[in-house]
Amino acid sequence: MPDLILAYTEAASVIQGHAKHLLSQKPAAEQVLLLAALHRVLAEPILADRDQPPFPRSTRDGFACRSEDISARKPLRILGQLKAGDVWKGSPVAAGEAIEIMTGAPVPAGADCVVMVEHVKVREDTLFIGSGRTLEPGENIVPSGAEARSGSIIVPAGTRLAASHIAAAAACGCANVSVYARPRVAILATGDELVPVDHAPLTHQIRNSNSYSLAAQTTLAGAQPVILPVAPDDEAEIESAIRSASGCNLLLLSGGVSMGKYDFVEQALLELGAEFLFTGAKIQPGRPVVFGKLPQQYFFGLPGNPVSTMVTFLLFAQPLIAALSGEATGGPRFALARLAHDFRTKPGLTRFLPASIDFKIESPQASIIPWQGSGDLASTASANGFVVIPSNADNLAAGDSVSILLV
Ligand code: AMP
Ligand code: MG
Repeated sequence: MPDLILAYTEAASVIQGHAKHLLSQKPAAEQVLLLAALHRVLAEPILADRDQPPFPRSTRDGFACRSEDISARKPLRILGQLKAGDVWKGSPVAAGEAIEIMTGAPVPAGADCVVMVEHVKVREDTLFIGSGRTLEPGENIVPSGAEARSGSIIVPAGTRLAASHIAAAAACGCANVSVYARPRVAILATGDELVPVDHAPLTHQIRNSNSYSLAAQTTLAGAQPVILPVAPDDEAEIESAIRSASGCNLLLLSGGVSMGKYDFVEQALLELGAEFLFTGAKIQPGRPVVFGKLPQQYFFGLPGNPVSTMVTFLLFAQPLIAALSGEATGGPRFALARLAHDFRTKPGLTRFLPASIDFKIESPQASIIPWQGSGDLASTASANGFVVIPSNADNLAAGDSVSILLV
C-alpha cells in the first residue's frame, strides 16, 4: 500500500474535494415538524409566502404623520389610535394630522414618518413636536417588501437550521419543512485491550471510550451513530466487522492504524477493496489518520489514542458527514484568539493542542492545557477547543494571535 502522508492543508483539501462531490448527490428528503428540523439540513428552500413586512410597519411607539409637518413644528390634530393588529379605516393622514401608532402597526396612508412618543407632548387631542426635531420621510417605518419580496428565498436548501432559520420558517408559515435524511455512521473500535464501559477492567485493560466520543461527535455533527461491537486485533475479525457496516453511509474505525505489529485495520480494508486517499497527516495529535473509500462507503481509520480520535474526527470526519447530510458549508470551524502565555514548540507538524478558551467579548484568550500527549483524555476533558500551532511556527509569545479549532 502506498504511503500518502499529507500536510494538514493537503489532507483538508482532499476531504473538501470529496465533500464537494458528495454534495452533488442529494440525500433522500423527508418532511418533519418545524421544531423537529432544528439542526437538520434543509432540503427545499424556505420562500417568503408574502412581502415582508406585508405592510409599512411602524418600528416605534409614537405618532404617524407627515415629515413636512414635523419641520414646520405646527401642533397636529390626533385623529385616533392604531395598535399592532389594527388597520386604519379612516381617510388618509392629511397635513396637520397625526395618528397615535404602536410598534408593529401598519402605518396609515398619507403618513410618511413616525415620530417617537419620547419626542412629543400630547395635550388632549393635540400633538406638540419637541423643539429642534426633524424627521426624514420614511423614518421609523419599514416599507412593505423591504425585508423580503414574496417568492424570494429566505433560507436556501443545504442550510443546517439554527434558531434564526426556524424563526424565519415560522414567519413564512412553514409548519413542516423538508430536510435531508441523516447519514448513518458506523463506529468500529478495534483493540484486544478494550473492555466495555460497564465491565471492570483488569489493570492492563482499557475501557472503550472511543466508541462513545465518536458517537457523541457523530450526533453533534447531525448524523446517526451505529455502534458496532468492538473488534479484536485480528484481521479476519476486523474484515467481518467492516462487512457488517455495509448499510451505513460512512465507517469510522478507531485504533489499529499505526505501525505496530498488531495494527491490522489497513490490511483488512485493503482486502475488502479499499482505495486509500491518504494514509497519514503531518499533524499532532492524529498523525496515523487514514481516509479512503470502500465499494460501499467512505471510511476513516482514526488513531486509537482518544484525543487523536477526537481531533481527527473534527478535522476530517465532521466535514465529510456534513456533506453526506447535504450541508453546503461544513466544518471544521476556526476562530482567532490571543495566546495567554508563551509557548515553546518546534516546526514540523501542524498541532492541535487542547486549550481552555475564554470567549470574552474583546478577544478570546486561549491557554494551552499541559497534557501527557494524545492519550490524555483527562486534560482534554477540561478543554473547550484546540489551539492550532502552524507547522512552520517557532516559539510563540503571550499575546500572539493563534487560530483555534472550535468543538
Ligand atoms: P492504537 O491506535 O490501536 O495503536 O491505540 C493507541 C492507543 O489508544 C492505545 O493506548 C490504545 O489502548 C488506545 N485506544 C485504542 N482504542 C481505544 C478505544 N476505543 N478507547 C480508548 N482507548 C483506546
Ligand atoms: Mg490497537
